[in-house]
Amino acid sequence: MTAAADRPVFRFAPSPNGQLHLGHALSAFENQHWAEKTGGRLLLRIEDIDRTRCTAALEDGLIADLDWLGITYERPFRRQSEHFDDYRRALDRLIDMGLAYPAFLTRGEVRSIVEAYETGSAAWPRDPDGAPHYPGGERHLDVRISGRRIAEKARHTIRLDMEKALKRVNAPLYWTAFDEDGTRLIEARPEDWGDIVLSRSDAPSSYHLSVVVDDALQGVTHVVRGKDLELATAVHRLLQELLGLPAPLYRHHRLIMGADGRKLSKSNHDTALKALRDAGASPLDIRRLCGF
Ligand code: GLU
Repeated sequence: MTAAADRPVFRFAPSPNGQLHLGHALSAFENQHWAEKTGGRLLLRIEDIDRTRCTAALEDGLIADLDWLGITYERPFRRQSEHFDDYRRALDRLIDMGLAYPAFLTRGEVRSIVEAYETGSAAWPRDPDGAPHYPGGERHLDVRISGRRIAEKARHTIRLDMEKALKRVNAPLYWTAFDEDGTRLIEARPEDWGDIVLSRSDAPSSYHLSVVVDDALQGVTHVVRGKDLELATAVHRLLQELLGLPAPLYRHHRLIMGADGRKLSKSNHDTALKALRDAGASPLDIRRLCGF
């Protein structure tokens, strides 16, 4: 056995904002498989920064589902809602570097600006999830004005100034993908995402920011997650580069599709692990359904 410090570190990072379904089981099995294959460690991270949708009861259900499936991971596990200070420190660094700005437009205001623009012939740029790039002019807003609006409790998000951020790194950036055949470099295109959100008035950190901070703090060397997050890896590489954090290797596994041909979501209740278990399925059945 190699020393703990030399062993690869994997993590399964579900969000307790709904019940675990077959797609989560596949991701957990993938992580378990790769950890076993490489003699690595498997960590669990509960991604519960969304305090309105994540609940303790859903977290309990998630732990019970993993126990039932036979997924073992190191304890204690990390719960993101207990580490908002870590994300705040990373956010402050980006602000101090002059790369982040407060943005005040509501979703409705963004929609109107984009619609007005698109009545002309040109299409407004959209991110890989289909959301329009942020059109506000606050990047150049005098801090005295933005500071006053924040003091007046105006709802806002803190966004990354993508153009400035790209100038701070050695673009193009790459990320390393791994699979059975080895590793290969893939060009990252963070610019496709526009000025991403780093924090909101009601959620002190965004998914992107907390995931890179935690992967570094937990010493994660191999990220194994679904293909739906593959394009987001470009943003993660950029944040790692800006914050001086190490870059793990990445593997984005296939997704399980529902009967409607779309990726499984929390609303596909019949694929929830709890429902399958109650209907008499065994952990082995779930493995087979996931193709393991
Ligand atoms: N928490 C994310 C999810 O449940 C996964 C994040 C990740 O693996 O990077 O979809």
